[in-house]
Amino acid sequence: TATTHRYVYAFAEGDKDHRDLLGGKGAGLAEMTNLGLPVPPGFTITTEACRRYLATGDDPPGLAEEIDKHLAGLEADRGKRLGDPEDPLLVSVRSGAKFSMPGMMDTVLDIGLNDEAVIGLAAAGGERFAWDSYRRLIQMFGATVLGIEAEEFTKALEEAKHRSGARRDIDLDAAALRDLVADYKRIVNAATGIDFPQDPREQLDMTVRAVFDSWNTDRARVYRRSERIPEDLGTAVNVMSMVYGNLGPDSGTGVAFTRDPATGAPGVYGDYLANAQGEDVVAGVRTPVPLAQLEQLDPAAYAELLRIMALLEAHYQDLCDIEFTIEHGRLWMLQTRIGKRTAAAAFRIALQLVDDNRISIEDALGRVTGEQLSQLMFPRFDTEANAQPIASGVPASPGAAVGAAVFDAATAESREGPTILVRRETSPDDLPGIIAAAGVLTSRGGKTSHAAVVARGMGKTCVVGADDLQIDYDRKQFTTPGGAVVREGDIVSIDGATGAVYAGAIPVVPPPVVEYFEGRLTREQHRADPVVQAVARMMAYADERRRLGVHANADTPADAARARRFGADGIGLCRTEHMFLGERRRLVERLVLADTEDERDSALAELLPLQLGDFTGLFAAMDGLPVTIRLLDPPLHEFLPDLTELSVKVALAEARGEPDETDIRLLAAVRRLHEQNPMLGLRGVRLGLAVPGLVAVQVRAIALAATARIKAGSDPRPEIMVPLIGSVEEFDLMHAEIRRVLDEVAAETGIAVDAAIGTMIELPRAALTAGRIAERAAFFSFGTNDLTQTTWGFSRDDVEGSFFPVYFAKGVFADSPFESLDEEGVGRLVELAVEEGRAANRDLVIGVCGEHGGDPSSVRFFDRIGLDYVSCSPFRVPIARLEAGRAAV
Ligand code: PEP
Ligand code: MG
Repeated sequence: TATTHRYVYAFAEGDKDHRDLLGGKGAGLAEMTNLGLPVPPGFTITTEACRRYLATGDDPPGLAEEIDKHLAGLEADRGKRLGDPEDPLLVSVRSGAKFSMPGMMDTVLDIGLNDEAVIGLAAAGGERFAWDSYRRLIQMFGATVLGIEAEEFTKALEEAKHRSGARRDIDLDAAALRDLVADYKRIVNAATGIDFPQDPREQLDMTVRAVFDSWNTDRARVYRRSERIPEDLGTAVNVMSMVYGNLGPDSGTGVAFTRDPATGAPGVYGDYLANAQGEDVVAGVRTPVPLAQLEQLDPAAYAELLRIMALLEAHYQDLCDIEFTIEHGRLWMLQTRIGKRTAAAAFRIALQLVDDNRISIEDALGRVTGEQLSQLMFPRFDTEANAQPIASGVPASPGAAVGAAVFDAATAESREGPTILVRRETSPDDLPGIIAAAGVLTSRGGKTSHAAVVARGMGKTCVVGADDLQIDYDRKQFTTPGGAVVREGDIVSIDGATGAVYAGAIPVVPPPVVEYFEGRLTREQHRADPVVQAVARMMAYADERRRLGVHANADTPADAARARRFGADGIGLCRTEHMFLGERRRLVERLVLADTEDERDSALAELLPLQLGDFTGLFAAMDGLPVTIRLLDPPLHEFLPDLTELSVKVALAEARGEPDETDIRLLAAVRRLHEQNPMLGLRGVRLGLAVPGLVAVQVRAIALAATARIKAGSDPRPEIMVPLIGSVEEFDLMHAEIRRVLDEVAAETGIAVDAAIGTMIELPRAALTAGRIAERAAFFSFGTNDLTQTTWGFSRDDVEGSFFPVYFAKGVFADSPFESLDEEGVGRLVELAVEEGRAANRDLVIGVCGEHGGDPSSVRFFDRIGLDYVSCSPFRVPIARLEAGRAAV
């Protein structure tokens, strides 16, 4: 069947919808050709030819003949022949994959020149031009096709300039360029042992194969992995007859955008360089001038360019980016594509096009992403500052934080002014310090380490795993491999978007979009900021269209209030264990270690008023909206003293002859409760079943808080959630206990609090038996963090810093399954549970509250499988709202 394939298409035979086969560049050239725009004639060798070549290591059968045929067509069209000693045809060869891809071989110009044809070209276009073109060919061919260090050619060029006293490359005369060609040929021969090929067809074939091969360079692979471009697409190759921007001052080359791709401002943007070929602009040999100056240089060509740009934008209905060449005053289009743009520009341009009646609101929603919105929400360092990092780690939670380095949580809390908490790693004990600090820097761990998860949840800047740092807690300092020493109190800056660590204070640019969500912008500020206006409008469009609810994970009234400002429809997860960190940890410790009923009751009695206060605050912040409160779910070790530390303390005291009875008792209990796998141990529902009175006191606090709010005329909407069940039996036991306490409080107060009772689905067994559980539960909330952990058997606290980097490098997965839901595996369990849960209970409300609830691509999945809501940290709420809106259109 191979020979029935066509591998080559003339530009006039393609169109913009065949990017798979023709690549982005080939499709754009075909489309422009068919629009009647001035495109130099040429043809595209398909991605399929590339795939076959890469698979077999050889040209696919028939390709050579097809190229012959199309070359003959080009020659007829232009009335010139390749390699002709009189006025030869020259061609350019450019790669062009479906998605534009830096890292691949790009362009070779002037193919077809040799020692004879250069004479013909000189007769047609002048001596200087001909020899300049020939040296360009050898330079580009040598560097990209033959793999010779580009440096060798630029060095020879510099020497040539020096020899003839030329300041710029365009000051070299024909004789100097002829000498340079001889130098270049010597370089080629010395580096490869072969002479520069004189046969134009051999030049072309070698270049085409080099383009194919460049698909597999390391740089191209790295780029594809980071951009999630499939490995097996291959690239197309575009062969185009040359037009010359280097024929003199009435010629030139440039790039243009139909709108500003950096800011999204309307109006054309671009650069122009007279008397040059395309790669001069890219290589920065000479500095181009703003496109607007072309109007003075060549008003007719400029007017024609503007006409074509308007036509292209109207045709593509989007920002276009364009490459063009002017040859003796005649404009030629060399490339067009939908232009890349910044996040800010994406929002603005999409809405400009709506306002111009070019695209629908639904289209506009399709042109921005949650990822782009998140970029607009992170504070950032001023890039103009040009600072040099002293170290770098894993960017774990974006933002730009500046503060005094501190090495323990207590100092972060007590110190005046912003701090950066520097730890080897963090534990729940550090939480108050993390809250107090402006940013967190650790030398261990990855993107799902404790520090990373907590910091992301709070929208706090965090860099983890900066393993070059030597952190010395005793001396309160860290050192870098470069020898820099940062002591407590020294100012450092950390960039959570790049992982860079700086000494000193780098200036920070505040994000107005967050100020807008916070409600802190004045009307004038709002009106003066086009990006804020665009975001505000787009959010309204998304909210009007989204089917998914968006709730927040919030544990404090302040977080709940922010979530509400950011547009949350309720709280989807209040992790009550977060209410017992710091000072209050002792209470849980006492409860767990209690030997007698009296001891236990007194610990519980102290817990009650604290929880009552917590819940009252949450209900107040979320009045009228659901507040899903999860019963205590910590791995127990997080609430007990560290076994090793306590053992040492007891041993030292005994050695001094001053044994401490309390510590000895505590140590015995900690030993008894010590677990090898705490995440699979006494936590979740198991804790509620094993520690008498614990659930009762939490439910009582919820009910009393709600009662108090009702009495005050407010509208609390508590929901009670049981964590980490694997079976309906566990849920039943908890349900009965919760019901009992609610009824008890109702009898005492005369007010019945109507609280839905539901459960998390975060163990495979719960997902597999969801039908039975749904018969008893009012709602499900998928805990996709634990569900990912237990489905894959990956420890969520350890993997990122351990073998995940290897997994990314070997392509096991492109993203951490803890960040983007593994739809194929974990997603199937979720789908199954949704299906069987709904079949058993039509009124079942279903949400998700793992980290994935705020991940853009996961949000789309949850919409598709019919969840009722997603729940995520307050800072991700706008992102989830936008993605939910996009998913609905
Ligand atoms: C989960 O497991 O996805 C979840 C939300 O619970 P936690 O992260 O508190 O274990
Ligand atoms: Mg969980």
